[in-house]
Amino acid sequence: MQTLVLEYLRPRETHAYFSQEHSTLLPAPIAHPHAKYGNKQEPPSQSEYEYHRYLNGKPCDENGQCLPPNTPPTIPQRPSRSEWMPYRDCIEFETAELLYTKTQMLAGDINTLTELWRASFIKHGIDDAQIPFSDKDNLYRTIDATPIGGVPWDLFSLSYNGEVPQENAPPWMSQSFDVWYRSPQMIVHNILSNSDFKDNIDYVPYREFCANGKRKYKDFMSGNWAWKEANIIAEDQSTHGSTFVPIILGSDKTTVSVATGQNEYYPIYISIGNVHNSVCQAHQNALALLGFLSIPKISAILQDLKPAMTTPEVVRCADQHFQRVVYGIGPYIADYPEQALLACIVQGWCPRCTAAPNNLDGKAGWRSRLHTEALIKAFDRGILWDQYGLVADITPFTNNFPRVDIHKTLVPDLLHQVIKGTFKDHLVSVRIYSDIPILHRIIPLISQLVEQLACIQKVPGSIPGLVNIQF
Ligand SMILES: [Zn+2]
Repeated sequence: MQTLVLEYLRPRETHAYFSQEHSTLLPAPIAHPHAKYGNKQEPPSQSEYEYHRYLNGKPCDENGQCLPPNTPPTIPQRPSRSEWMPYRDCIEFETAELLYTKTQMLAGDINTLTELWRASFIKHGIDDAQIPFSDKDNLYRTIDATPIGGVPWDLFSLSYNGEVPQENAPPWMSQSFDVWYRSPQMIVHNILSNSDFKDNIDYVPYREFCANGKRKYKDFMSGNWAWKEANIIAEDQSTHGSTFVPIILGSDKTTVSVATGQNEYYPIYISIGNVHNSVCQAHQNALALLGFLSIPKISAILQDLKPAMTTPEVVRCADQHFQRVVYGIGPYIADYPEQALLACIVQGWCPRCTAAPNNLDGKAGWRSRLHTEALIKAFDRGILWDQYGLVADITPFTNNFPRVDIHKTLVPDLLHQVIKGTFKDHLVSVRIYSDIPILHRIIPLISQLVEQLACIQKVPGSIPGLVNIQF
């Protein structure tokens, strides 16, 4: 049994998310004053912290003007609402929950139950308007009117408007596809302002070092990606003093068969990198359902976050202070087939490098948006498909947003690629054949995966405590 501890496993420089030159553009970070605003509790350990010098989450007023240190926040006015809206009371809410969520009662049976209820009320001389729901339609209308986290659902439809072949046109070319979604901006505002998170949120990217000088990774904002992304954002001086909010996305295709005829849907989840991992596991409000798509059309539903990816917007945060916030699309967590779809590569090829599927040890380089675009300019579609595994007709959704490169954004699917792929398929076979050189080559790759995954434990299917791995 061998224990790999993360600190001992450094990624190869070539595989870093962003090139190192960004960090050299800026002076070295200094100990950060944000701690005095109380959002980051300094632990009693021997660790030393470096906070990002420029994206340092300074509190501001609602117009974005910086506040002097130690200025208390203004207290937000909360609108008064009936606690159980749109239900009349707790009994009505629990009845709906029992019928719709727990027992998933059939519509006809709900009507029968409400009829029996009504008969019972009449028999005992009670006004039958007092029964929780008059019929199934009344129940469903009430459930539909239930606000979820205060962010309403919206819908748009999409259809193909390109060239259609004369013969054997695939059915999807004439179909219409529904995209159900909620405003990612409102969802993120809700997470940021949730006072439940006030002691478990990092507004500033930081680097933690143990007493022996070794880097320590814990929550998302302690990782390399947040630090480097903050460096890139900080090249624009107007962002200085703002708060970096990494947007973490995840999706997992699911087949819905009830009453829809085996349709495939992509539920998309959204979270932010600022909330501590421990809270994300315990508190479901840190992860929200963003959309429910019949085709992967993510770019359109992320549009309301786009302006503040470059120009900070003022948001009230969990500590009740306003802050100027800059978003950045961070890791996207998906299983391999979806990664291929998102990266616009041919199934079987790697979304991160150009290694041929039948010769993984052959000559290959890292994929990047620049590299892909250069290939598309240089070669025709057939060569791109056969020799580079690229689907040249489709553009990754990330190309519509600043600073994002889909090839660097995708993180491995823990279950299929890390647990089953790396540990079970590769390591087990390596151990059987005692091929030590191969083992030595695999370990750095695993370390790289571990580092990227260590701070991401938010999406269903992920595993807490991946920092220490035993095998
Ligand atoms: Zn690869």
